[in-house]
Amino acid sequence: MAKYICELCGYESEEQGECPTCEIALEEVSEGEEEEKKCKHGLSKDDCEICSEI
Ligand SMILES: [Zn+2]
Ligand SMILES: [Zn+2]
Repeated sequence: MAKYICELCGYESEEQGECPTCEIALEEVSEGEEEEKKCKHGLSKDDCEICSEI
């Protein structure tokens, strides 16, 4: 099931629409994409020192 987030403030909604704070369109994020952001060490790939050394 998709969810929608505001790129600016991180507001999350299950329905498509606008962020009530920033008044911009929410970006759709699939749950699969969210898992891909994490490496096998359980960290964000950008933050993981082990992955970035390879
Ligand atoms: Zn926002
Ligand atoms: Zn890693």
